[in-house]
Amino acid sequence: MEHSAEQRRIAEAWLATLGAALERRQFAGAAAMMHPDGYWRDLLTFNWGFTTLHGVPEVESWLRDTWDSNAPRNFRLEGEPSIASLGEHSETLEFFFGFETNVALGRGFVRLVEDPNAPKTPKAFTILTTMKELKAFPEAVGRNRPREDMRVSSRGLENWLDQRNAAREFRHNDPDVIIIGAGQSGLMMAARLGQLNVSTLVVEKSERIGDVWRKRYHSLKLHNEICMNHF
Ligand SMILES: Cc1cc2nc3c(=O)[nH]c(=O)nc-3n(C[C@H](O)[C@H](O)[C@H](O)COP(=O)(O)OP(=O)(O)OC[C@H]3O[C@@H](n4cnc5c(N)ncnc54)[C@H](O)[C@@H]3O)c2cc1C
Repeated sequence: MEHSAEQRRIAEAWLATLGAALERRQFAGAAAMMHPDGYWRDLLTFNWGFTTLHGVPEVESWLRDTWDSNAPRNFRLEGEPSIASLGEHSETLEFFFGFETNVALGRGFVRLVEDPNAPKTPKAFTILTTMKELKAFPEAVGRNRPREDMRVSSRGLENWLDQRNAAREFRHNDPDVIIIGAGQSGLMMAARLGQLNVSTLVVEKSERIGDVWRKRYHSLKLHNEICMNHF
């Protein structure tokens, strides 16, 4: 495919066309931007669910059914597009993009391939749209990171460990959420809720967290490739 400025132009034009089609509720037009064998995976952005769609008709009816005023908009390229390959497609144009809904900021990824029937209009072989952050509950990172301004050497002030112990004992409040099972799902959920400042209690029936794994394996070793392990 063409040099990087041209790749950028193609990616931005594709995103602008998708955004305009969705804004005008031209569902057939938006779905036709997919390759006939293409997949769209949506995580929590068009509705509160995980969805995988295959092919143009499925995408079109899903867009029609899930559309509301909260639908993703303001699609914009993030970073530089790159050339790769996928299966029978020896050349794909791949790029990340940002977008927003009324309640959330999102991030997506798309792989464009050439359409043999219309060489000048690349089609999406895969699209991922995923929620990144709820606008009302910004992630406590970067500028939002909690600041420890207290002079912990002063008498009467709690240091981090004091606060941690109080939180563990739920000394000042009851938990808003109870998670049953401190396996990887429970621990990840608790970590996410903690990051959102939601008071959470995890209960585990085993004596020690990790026993469910420890009692099965002699080592803490996953068998799949490390890049697949989000935990
Ligand atoms: C043999 C085997 C090999 C695997 N290999 C891999 C691998 O290589 N890579 C990989 O990514 N995945 C692997 N998996 C899958 C992985 O282990 C599971 O997907 C993962 O553990 C699921 O996490 P979970 O938190 O949903 O459930 P679990 O890990 O099962 O955790 C559930 C927790 O809830 C607790 N609990 C249950 N009921 C109650 C209750 N009533 N009250 C309180 N606590 C309760 C349990 O004690 C447990 O700690 C493997 C699974 C098996 C069985």
